Amino acid sequence: MNDSYKDVAGLMAAQKKCVVLSGAGISAESGIPTFRSKGGLWEKYDPTVYASIEVFRKDPSKYWEIRGDFIKNYDRYQPNAAHRALRELENMGIVRQVITQNIDGLHKKAGSENVIEIHGSLREIYCLQCNKEYLAPRVPEGSPPYCVCGGVLKPNTVLFGEQLPPQALEKASLESQTCEIMLVIGTSAVVYPAASLPSIAKQHGAKIIEINIEHAFGEADVVILEQAGTAMTRLLEEIKLLIS
Ligand code: NAD
Repeated sequence: MNDSYKDVAGLMAAQKKCVVLSGAGISAESGIPTFRSKGGLWEKYDPTVYASIEVFRKDPSKYWEIRGDFIKNYDRYQPNAAHRALRELENMGIVRQVITQNIDGLHKKAGSENVIEIHGSLREIYCLQCNKEYLAPRVPEGSPPYCVCGGVLKPNTVLFGEQLPPQALEKASLESQTCEIMLVIGTSAVVYPAASLPSIAKQHGAKIIEINIEHAFGEADVVILEQAGTAMTRLLEEIKLLIS
């Protein structure tokens, strides 16, 4: 395990082009349950039903039932050591791009600038009728809440059954094709097309480093089985030792 950190730090410190793909696991230490967390929201609600566009069209209150609390409490959720380490690595010129499946906005809250939120963000909420934008946590009361014009509000997130924004997906794919290292942090790598990005990177010659509490990506070159916050703090320390 110790050698893994040193090896990965060595690669990253050599200024290889490093891209990150993050998933729900990176935000677990910020108190946001993953799809698979014990006792989490998703034990009660099947996300493929409650977070589907088909259900949203029929009854938007179902999506607001599972997401409304997060949106109202948006300011309470804070980035953890892993998000902060990635921001610092971006500032050091080592991490070039973060691609996240998360919709919690925590990479941007941590100060990372090059972030592709491929599934959108709960921070932005739009009226489906007049397109007026609301920013979490400031949304009208109600489940679903309605715009001043009377239209239904929908968070700017990609629901099951919806296409990913083509520009974001195209950029994510290009970054995956041209990186030399991909850190795959806290994702079960089962939700497509995001789950295909590490394979794309690998096919184009990148080294894949997985950081997870349970090994999920079969093609990883190095697997660090550790909580994201602990692992990224350690990795950042090792990189600093090498470049100081
Ligand atoms: P997932 O829930 O399918 O898998 C989470 C992964 O994180 C698992 O592999 C688990 O072993 C790992 N993990 C859990 N705790 C960890 C920790 N402390 N450190 C490192 N790894 C940890 O998540 P996913 O692969 O991102 O699934 C994709 C879908 O889940 C996306 O569509 C995403 O929008 C949605 N989602 C997002 C959030 C969020 O925005 N925070 C939360 C739940 C689900």
